This record gives sequence, structure tokens and C-alpha cells, in this order.
Amino acid sequence: MASISHVAWIGRLTGPKGEIAYRIITEVAPHFPAITFAIVGGPLSERFSTVVGDNVVLSDFVEDVNQQFRQSDLVIGAGRVALEAMAFGLPVIAVGEACYVGAIDDETIDEAKATNFGDCAEPQAWQASRLIDDITQLISGAELPLDKYTDYLADYRLSRVAPQVMHCYERAVIRAALSRFAEIPVLTYHRVLPEAPQGSRFNVYVTIDELEQQLIQLKRRGFQFVTFKDIAQGMKPTKPIILTFDDGYEDNYLHLLPLLKKHNAKAVIFVLADDALTSNRWDIELGELEAALMSSEQIDECHLSGHVEIASHGLSHRRLTTLTDDELAFEMSASKQRLEALINDEVVSFAYPYGDCDQRESEAVAAAGYRFGVATISGPVKMADNLMWIRRITMFPKTDGFKFWKKTSGWYLRYCKFKGKDFVNVSSGS
Ligand SMILES: [Zn+2]
Repeated sequence: MASISHVAWIGRLTGPKGEIAYRIITEVAPHFPAITFAIVGGPLSERFSTVVGDNVVLSDFVEDVNQQFRQSDLVIGAGRVALEAMAFGLPVIAVGEACYVGAIDDETIDEAKATNFGDCAEPQAWQASRLIDDITQLISGAELPLDKYTDYLADYRLSRVAPQVMHCYERAVIRAALSRFAEIPVLTYHRVLPEAPQGSRFNVYVTIDELEQQLIQLKRRGFQFVTFKDIAQGMKPTKPIILTFDDGYEDNYLHLLPLLKKHNAKAVIFVLADDALTSNRWDIELGELEAALMSSEQIDECHLSGHVEIASHGLSHRRLTTLTDDELAFEMSASKQRLEALINDEVVSFAYPYGDCDQRESEAVAAAGYRFGVATISGPVKMADNLMWIRRITMFPKTDGFKFWKKTSGWYLRYCKFKGKDFVNVSSGS
């Protein structure tokens, strides 16, 4: 460590920060008569000027803090002052309103980050002797790893902080757009087939004709077909409906996509990101008919059509509540990355396979960077109440016009809740 002749402390001279300054002036500076202590902050008051010794320079607020850094061999401070001093490559002793962290090195950096360099923690008393000892050690040659300070600061880079701030902002915008709706119909479909298949166990399909009639009815009633991504991008719909299709069956590409194009409608397809999975293996084991899943090319074509939001259903349709924390995090982040690489666009929503989710799963979805976590028959009635636990309305074949109207009425979930009807588990394996 180079010799120390000029130490800076920067902060307000009122409140807890003012107390630190006062202690430096009265208890620390007298121990080091050969060192100049620059106390930079304000407002100046008699309390300070009357105790200032010969080796203390008291300044009011300054315009150019960098100028202070340039003159200093050591900075004592917390929060932003500590970060900026480190960016300057200056040795830093962190002490803030809450606690004394000490000279910043490998041993103290974690505590420094956790406490915003001493400003945020349960307040702990500290002795001025610690600061005196630390300064004495530096004077007598103790080395701080200044070359590592850049690495320590990596967490604070704009490229890392900005996305977090943006996500916060986006969540607020999304909530604002959705909060005026007591209930937004989000419909769950799976397969779309020319006609009813023989021997289907779970009946997770609608026919092309049924779906087309439903699209026509929704258009006639003035619904806007929106996707989760539309909302994430700031759309403020007035009469939204969200059509979702789980698992990413090839028949969605063959039969749904043409219908969406024909009626200028949109849908969200939750696909499985493991491209080794080519059919509904998880349902076949339970006695369901085999059904092919979309190829990567077909998924990308749906995305490029502008009528489909490609979203994640995980990697291989596992029950998330049975996974370890690491497996869960991998299922969510790896599926997001693979799909984003495939469509060259962001993936913002995730549907829990089997609707199998709990608090842990909904938190993991948010941690993986999704804006929406989509369940089946659990979650609050009002979407804005929990964007990581969105309740849907399950669609079955042979739903007549009146039943369909009821399901999309905007009061169906409340009606079901009142009747105790929708909160039972459906038998579907998907
Ligand atoms: Zn599924």
C-alpha cells in the first residue's frame, strides 16, 4: 500500500452519517496527526467546526466529488461513495449508518455487498478503535486487493442492474393494464383435430369446426385476441381474451395456425423445449393416444406468423413439485434459453405441466425471468393479483354455444367458485 497522507470521508453531516463524521473528527483523526482527513459534506454547523483539529479539512457539499477522490489515498464511506471510490481504484474502508464492515478485501466484500457497504442492516454499535486499527494496518503496509475491485463491482454494472430495474417497471405496467379486469378469460386447449379421435382417454382436443365457431363467436362479441407477450410489451386491451394451447402438438401447426390466420386471431402455445421429445410420451404411459409434437421448424413458423406467442411448458413435461430446487431451476431456465435460441425472440410465459405448482414453483418461474406463470385450475380469480399463478378455464370437446358463452362471460370463474365447481382436479393428464 502506498503511503497514506490524505483520507476522505464523504456524506451528509446530519443524522447517522453525521455521527460517523463526528467520530472520525474527534476520535480517529487525533491518532494520525500526519494524515489530512477531508470531511466532505454538509450542512456545516458549529458542532463540527468547534471540534476540528489541525489535520481535518471540513468542506461543505461539493460539486465535483471526483476531485476529492483524485486527492485521496483512502476513502472511508458507505453506499454509493464506497462504490465510486472503488471504481476509482482507491482503497476503501466501509462504514455506514448500520455497521462497520472494514477494509474491503476478499474477506469483507460479501458483507459489504449484503449491507450496501454498511448502510443497510440491523444497526450494530462499533468502536472507533476498529477504524483506527484498520488505518494503522494500511499505513504499516497491509495490502488491499485493488486489482480485484473491478470484479467486486461487476454486480453493479448497468448491464446487470438495468434489466432488473426494467423487470420491476414492466411488472408495474402489466399490473396497471390488468388490474381493472375482475376476470380475464384465459382458455386452455390442447389438440385441434379434423374430427373426434377414437379412444381418447383424456379428451384433450377440440375439432377444427368447433374451434372455428368459437373464434367467430368471440369476434362477434368484440373480444381482442391477445397474448401474454402483448401485455408484457405494454398493450392495454379493453376486452381481452387469451387462448392457450398446451404441449405444442403438431396438429396446432396443421390446423390451429391456419384458423388463426383466417380469422386474424392470436394464441399462446406452450411447447416442450426438449427436442428429443417428439410425442406425448407422458400421456401415452397413462393410456392416451399417441400424438406428434411440433418440430423445431414448425414452432419457429408459428412464431414468425405473428399469430402465435411461443411460450415454455418446461423441457419434458415433468411434475415440477417432485423436482429438487436445482432441477426445477434448470427446467425453467434451460427451456427458456432453448426456445429463445430457436425463435430468436424473448419467451415471457411459462405453463406448469399438469398445472402442478406451489409457492416454490411460482417463485422459481419469476426467478428464471418469466413475466407470467400459468397454472390450470388454481390461482386467484383476478389475474393481476398474481402474475406467476394465472388461473385458466379448461376447454373440452362438444362445448355448445351457450356453454362457451358462459365460459367466456367474464364472470365464469366467480360463478364456479360460488358453485365450488372449478376448484376440483380435472382428470386430464395434460
Ligand atoms: Zn401439458
